[in-house]
Amino acid sequence: MSTYHAVVVGAGFSGAVMAERLASQRGWRVLVLEQRNHLAGNCFDKTDVNGIRIHQYGPHLFHTNKPEVWHYLSQFTEWQPYEHKVLARVGDMLLPLPFNLNSLYRLYPAEHAQQLEQLLIQRYGAGAKVPILQLKQTDEPELRQLADWIYQNIFVNYTMRQWGIKAEDIAPEVLARVPVVLSRDDRYFHDQYQAIPVDGYTALIGRLLSQPGVDVHLQQDALQRLKLSQGEIWLDGEIFKGKLIYTGMLDQLFAYQFGELPYRSLQFEFKQLDFPYFQTATTVNYPNEDTFTRITEFKHILTEQCNSTTIVTEYPQDYDKNDPQKNIPYYPVFTADNQEKFGQYKALAAQYPQLIPLGRLAEYKYFNMDDAVLNALKSFAEL
Ligand SMILES: Cc1cc2nc3c(=O)[nH]c(=O)nc-3n(C[C@H](O)[C@H](O)[C@H](O)COP(=O)(O)OP(=O)(O)OC[C@H]3O[C@@H](n4cnc5c(N)ncnc54)[C@H](O)[C@@H]3O)c2cc1C
Repeated sequence: MSTYHAVVVGAGFSGAVMAERLASQRGWRVLVLEQRNHLAGNCFDKTDVNGIRIHQYGPHLFHTNKPEVWHYLSQFTEWQPYEHKVLARVGDMLLPLPFNLNSLYRLYPAEHAQQLEQLLIQRYGAGAKVPILQLKQTDEPELRQLADWIYQNIFVNYTMRQWGIKAEDIAPEVLARVPVVLSRDDRYFHDQYQAIPVDGYTALIGRLLSQPGVDVHLQQDALQRLKLSQGEIWLDGEIFKGKLIYTGMLDQLFAYQFGELPYRSLQFEFKQLDFPYFQTATTVNYPNEDTFTRITEFKHILTEQCNSTTIVTEYPQDYDKNDPQKNIPYYPVFTADNQEKFGQYKALAAQYPQLIPLGRLAEYKYFNMDDAVLNALKSFAEL
């Protein structure tokens, strides 16, 4: 009979926060099973041969307006202040993103930009964040022309490639995530707290999981050890009476009985280059390229002093569980059909009172890191 009070599947932020809380606040014994050979889920980072900290699954920049998340994590890490900057390469121009007044002045000669700025501010107010679809609906012809340019050159192709969909299928909420900003603030995020853990996300998550009472087993596919049947949970062939906190894919847990939940995946191409810098910002988006969406140069984050640099290029693709090049699920695909299918899995999960589906995979939701942490803290509080 297992002596664990809880099994946590997945050592990303969601699983690690829950394991930490259960062990430190309840004194529970917690077994964490992680299929990868490292902690931290998709936030995994490490130092490469050039001494540069890289993020294996794409650039992860911490930003939040949630003081409770900031204060909770600050018990486990020091922070290096960092404000993310992104440029968009359109033709031979590099425009600050989100598109803002600085971008406007790079796009047009000063006189015309000034005229558009005045129109924008009159209509929406200084500092406003205007979703592109709202800007496109303006009855002011010059502003509509501007909105159409931004939509065509910055939003539409990028979004189509990122999600693998046609222009007409793009959900307004997706476009609204990056508004047009009527200020000269070039920061990509405007949150109150913006920083990188001084010794990385992996070290931070390692500290969360180093509570007395927490055992972590890496390279363990939990589904080889767990069985769910008729409302009961089995661990290593024996009935398990504790809680199961599951941060993997819900469709996989239930053997895809209602069909697969679709995800978008990514390929990351890392390159080490023998010169100090490749580009002038951490991330440059390529909204109109055919195959890739963006290039990130990690050295801009912690400004390591060395004569070489490391970049990563992102190629979006559909998730395919049978193809080793495509079998990491990154983003849930939001459509009414997919939500309905997810609802079936959720209803099935509810038949197991010990089971708590948690995190971006099990809840089939896009969570930023701070959302994942807050969600886990709330879920613990509800236990
Ligand atoms: C490309 C990209 C960039 C991002 N950038 C940012 C950013 O800049 N800022 C930000 O705030 N957020 C960012 N995010 C979001 C961030 O990655 C998530 O918020 C975070 O990873 C969620 O943590 P999680 O624990 O829910 O999921 P995950 O990190 O995915 O952890 C789940 C873990 O469960 C494990 N697992 C699954 N199934 C099993 C199984 N059967 N057995 C054992 N283990 C299993 C997985 O291996 C994984 O390690 C980004 C996401 C992506 C994809």
